[in-house]
Amino acid sequence: MPNDPIDREFRLDVAAIARERGTFELKLPIAELPRLAGTLSSDACELAVQVTGDTTRRREPRITCIIRGSVVTDCQRCLEPLQQRIDIRSQLVFVADETRLPAVEDEEPEVDYLVLEAALDLRELVQDEVILALPVAPAHAPGACQAPASGVGTESRSAFATLARCTE
Ligand SMILES: [Zn+2]
Repeated sequence: MPNDPIDREFRLDVAAIARERGTFELKLPIAELPRLAGTLSSDACELAVQVTGDTTRRREPRITCIIRGSVVTDCQRCLEPLQQRIDIRSQLVFVADETRLPAVEDEEPEVDYLVLEAALDLRELVQDEVILALPVAPAHAPGACQAPASGVGTESRSAFATLARCTE
């Protein structure tokens, strides 16, 4: 691509990608996302991020961001690793200044409105979206595990450890 819409710091030129209706994909290692890594039990995984730009009918830049992959948290019940599938689609519409933000009743559901700045930090966006998508108290399915105090067999422990991989 002649004009790369994203720089090495993962800052996205929103106006350019929207104007060009560009799309690109990248892999973001969890290790590059410190806020998210702090809430997970492993930073070995990576997330696949697809970003597409276009404009709304009112010619506002719009970004659609699809984040896929899996991350590993600790189960709040048995404290063993727990894989969480990540499959997030988020849409952002950028307005020139705060006076252009739509009234709450006019906002489309599933769309976030932001005031356009020179560049969007893609890492911040991905971290916000994934942290919001994760359950507050992640746990295996009810009945699938028990608190360590009541005794968890080594077989079930290793089964969970095998499940908790980065890959799909
Ligand atoms: Zn568990």
